[in-house]
Amino acid sequence: MSQPLPLPALHASHAGTWLRDANGDTRGCSKGEAVMAAADTPLLLMNAPLVASRLGYPDLSGLDVLELFAFVHPAEFCVPTPKGLAHALGLVEPEDDAAVPLLLQQAAGALVAVCESAEWAQREGAWSTLQSLTRLRWPWAQVLSPHVRKPERAEKWLFSRLPEWEDAPERPSPAQVMIDEPEIEAHLERLTGEGAERREGQRLFAKGAGSVFAPRDRQKRPHVLLAQAGTGIGKTLGYLAPASLWAEKAGGTVWVSTYTKNLQRQLRRESGRAWPSARPDGSPPVVVRKGRGNYLCLLNLEDALQGGFAGRPAILAHLVARWAAYSQDGDMIGGDLPGWLGTLFRKRGIAALTDQRGECVYAGCPHYRKCFIERSARSAAQADLVIANHALVMVNAARGRDQGGRPTRIVFDEGHHVFDAADSTFSAALTGQEAIELRRWIVGPERNSRGRRRGLSARLADVASYDDAGGEAIEAAVKAAQELPSEGWLGRLAEGAPLGPLEALLAQVRATTYARDESGQEAGYGIETETAQLPGELVEAAMVAAQALAAIRQPLQKLGGRLEAVLENAPDWLDGQGRARIEGARHSLAWRVDLLAAWEALLARLGGPADPDFVDWLAVDRNDAREFDIGLHRHWLDPMQPFAKVVLEPAHGVMLTSATLTDRGEEGPDWPHAITRSGAPHLDLAPKQVEAASPFDYAKRAEVLIVTDIRRGDLPALAGAYARLIEASDGGVLGLFTAIRRMRAVYGRIADRLARTGLPLYAQHVDPIDTGTLTDIFRDDARASLLGTDALRDGVDVPGRSLRCVVMESVPWPRPTILHRARRAAAAAAEEGGAKRHDDRIIRARLAQAFGRLIRTREDAGHFVVLSSAFPSRLLSAFPEGTPVLRVTLDEALQRVAKGVGAEDPNATDSAMEREQT
Ligand code: SF4
Repeated sequence: MSQPLPLPALHASHAGTWLRDANGDTRGCSKGEAVMAAADTPLLLMNAPLVASRLGYPDLSGLDVLELFAFVHPAEFCVPTPKGLAHALGLVEPEDDAAVPLLLQQAAGALVAVCESAEWAQREGAWSTLQSLTRLRWPWAQVLSPHVRKPERAEKWLFSRLPEWEDAPERPSPAQVMIDEPEIEAHLERLTGEGAERREGQRLFAKGAGSVFAPRDRQKRPHVLLAQAGTGIGKTLGYLAPASLWAEKAGGTVWVSTYTKNLQRQLRRESGRAWPSARPDGSPPVVVRKGRGNYLCLLNLEDALQGGFAGRPAILAHLVARWAAYSQDGDMIGGDLPGWLGTLFRKRGIAALTDQRGECVYAGCPHYRKCFIERSARSAAQADLVIANHALVMVNAARGRDQGGRPTRIVFDEGHHVFDAADSTFSAALTGQEAIELRRWIVGPERNSRGRRRGLSARLADVASYDDAGGEAIEAAVKAAQELPSEGWLGRLAEGAPLGPLEALLAQVRATTYARDESGQEAGYGIETETAQLPGELVEAAMVAAQALAAIRQPLQKLGGRLEAVLENAPDWLDGQGRARIEGARHSLAWRVDLLAAWEALLARLGGPADPDFVDWLAVDRNDAREFDIGLHRHWLDPMQPFAKVVLEPAHGVMLTSATLTDRGEEGPDWPHAITRSGAPHLDLAPKQVEAASPFDYAKRAEVLIVTDIRRGDLPALAGAYARLIEASDGGVLGLFTAIRRMRAVYGRIADRLARTGLPLYAQHVDPIDTGTLTDIFRDDARASLLGTDALRDGVDVPGRSLRCVVMESVPWPRPTILHRARRAAAAAAEEGGAKRHDDRIIRARLAQAFGRLIRTREDAGHFVVLSSAFPSRLLSAFPEGTPVLRVTLDEALQRVAKGVGAEDPNATDSAMEREQT
């Protein structure tokens, strides 16, 4: 048993503040006293930004135990709460807030003791990192130095320790095989394991899923299956069974695409039943693939370690380097890098270490052979199963680097999100932020910026010196790109002094959007206006801007042609690595050319007749009254049109599955609408359908309460209702809001009151903690409650007691945006009553998703509460069949929540209570 570290410790929550002397007692103190103590001497604390926000003192710093944890145990999981830390280190949970400072001393003592231990699994590299951290004055460095011994032999630094990936020949096309139903059933039984209960729904579902793996009969006519699988039928193994059978027999790759990171994690776990973690040759049969922006870029990290970052961000870079040496796959967002690490350092350090701007120099990079992104792309090309997300699958299908790597057998799980993912993937936005990114990619860094970021001419210097025409094209593109917005553009626009044709256009966009704004009380949030009846000045500015864009696109196009020529008549000096680099450059050039062409098309339409396939608008994006982007937007009216062309048409088999694939209208599941939303009709395809109902007993395990006496807009009443519901349920509440502002206001009113009764409350957009970590905290503490907005409605998977009540602030009406209005109008034109049906579908889908958070397993039970005096009965069909729905007053709701689901209802005949069966 290690000794507590004898240093003073501080803990602050909504319930109060506690200080503990180095060797003495813990006492409650005022916030002011705590701030003074922290300024005097570095205190042990946990999650400095969170403590700072509790104390209302943003500059707080100290010895953060979480930073120490990240140093000692890189790539290990820890929920960043006192209880979570105690669990991670095998210590006794603190009983209350007052016991936390002692826990911090114990935890620090335990971590320091690990450094002394011979069994420290992550010792390699620690001493060297500590030397760098000492130079950077990391507060822990002095404490740790006597405890981390110098290794006998010099430690290899990260970049020589990481393994290299190996090139493998391209996988041959998959064999044309049939998998029959008895085979699928037998395989499913093997996967579910001996003695597992036989689930008819799952068998039916698995057999249906098998149909998408049959050989295709005709070109451009994939097998398409829509499979609705109620929660709890075991859908994941249901499709993994035929997928793994097919992958084995055919030697092909199946892509499973999800919308949330949660499901990706679950899939990785469950795929372990069908595949080993490694093949005999060591290669992984299952690979998780994410967008480039998720992974650590080693070149950026090297830059950061060698002076690119200074001060606190430099300390973060060293802790990230520690992690990189132990990480499974270099995934920084949702992988094994603790989600809380970045937020401890407040600035956007994590993002700067990823390859977010597409500046990768491929084979020109000294770390290319060790690059996490390249490794994951190569492993995916050889894998049996690739776990990806909807956006990546669509982007890969649209502009994948090589034909062989494009997905052809795809399972879209969480299929109800495919429409939204297609909507954003196939949209175009010409905004200041987007344009400035393009400028940086072409021109390179602006003055004063540190690091390796280089423009096109530096990246292709060898081509420029070898091929005159290529060199000229680069020069012309760089010159033309000077006309794009540059740093400080938002300020210049606000002052009415735009620079160059693009900024001039954005200034017009801004002026027009403000001139037409009628949002009134929504001031401070984003505003938008349609692109109809635009002022002449704006149309003129658009024409000039379009010419400026064309002047960038043309030389880029020409450069693409020159690169192709260089590859065809390769000079002697062009080795394999050089080739790969030029291939990479050609690929990224091609999609910048497409981007510019899309922007030009967007501008060409302004002032002319509307294209019925698209919805265009102008927008000023604001956050808390601060503008952060301005520009023009274009979305497809039906994004499933490009989806059908780009994703479905080249595929051989595609399955869309979800618990809520169809809208549950009053007449039952609406399959025709689900078919339309799949994109299949654009290819004249009639998808197969499968449906397996949930085995859960919703009638006994859940109850929907519609609270009718909270007036809309009455904020004190809304906050009071949340607080009382959380108290009645003794925590375990997920509170969902449609507006961040209201959520913040409710949180501000009730957090202290709840904390005093030992009920911690967390909130997205308020607590300086990322959403994934907030969910971990919520899951880990059965008395905690969590407030959030859209992302939580669908991304939270918390089975068990930790989530026993969902409270929605109101009926989730769709926001009347320009895009929504256009789609609503299209629905109205398509059928009588279409507009209302369109809105109802959106609301029911949201209700069904939110309700889906409540019952995750057969044992779960709980209440779903909507605080709405006017909840139309036609929306009740959103809830699973048999779920009891009651319209009640808040007091009645509190009684029921306090009692829990399944208790006898003494007022069942009360006329004030309308019981409706869905
Ligand atoms: S290859 Fe590209 S992404 Fe990979 S480390 Fe190098 S620059 Fe970064």
